[in-house]
Amino acid sequence: MALDDYRKKRDFTKSPEPSGDAPVGKKAGAPLFFCVQKHLASHLHYDLRLEWNGVLLSWAVPKGPSIDPKDKRLAMHVEDHPFDYGTFEGVIPEGYGAGIVMLWDRGTWEPEQDDVDAAMRKGEIKFRLNGYKLKGSWVLVKTHGFAGAPNSWLLIKHRDDWAGPIDITEFAPLSVKTPDADFAEILAGGTPDLWTRNPPAKTGDTGAMFKKILARALEISAANKVAAKPPKAKRRS
Ligand code: MN
Repeated sequence: MALDDYRKKRDFTKSPEPSGDAPVGKKAGAPLFFCVQKHLASHLHYDLRLEWNGVLLSWAVPKGPSIDPKDKRLAMHVEDHPFDYGTFEGVIPEGYGAGIVMLWDRGTWEPEQDDVDAAMRKGEIKFRLNGYKLKGSWVLVKTHGFAGAPNSWLLIKHRDDWAGPIDITEFAPLSVKTPDADFAEILAGGTPDLWTRNPPAKTGDTGAMFKKILARALEISAANKVAAKPPKAKRRS
């Protein structure tokens, strides 16, 4: 089954991620869904997901997508994800993928060849995206073991009206699900003190990023608590 690998890696009593048991509530012939999740885990990366055959074909893109056709972004093909993963945003407290997930882009996609399964087997799939941030024509091409990684592909933007020399991850860094939320706000919406001990990354750039996000999340949540405090009850005389 397509979702076996996905389920094997996760403990759904500890992770808020969808188990994939819910039926895919989609009308036949409805446009295909795509999303990109920005995922701060042991390393920051972006997960590109394309709906196909009721699941989400998935690639982890360490540097994120680039709309500059000169860039070839490494994209590691990973396990299929359930369809309802496509709207997931939140905090994975521990275990596989522990960290913060932001829904960074979403929309629809169209294959640019007739046989998607054959394209996947061949290791070259051309497609159009229609998201908030990513649009136009793209290709994912398998490197066939380049750098010793059998699952490595490259994500490349084709030259069109939606291409340009802009760093889209810098230009548009925030959530498309929770208006303008960043990682700190997503963490503050859960249990922000979760990682005062033992964050998913402790050292290097990612460790520093977690530290900063945690400090801001605690500030946001403290401010929210003050704002939400009910007025003091009147003293009885
Ligand atoms: Mn991920």
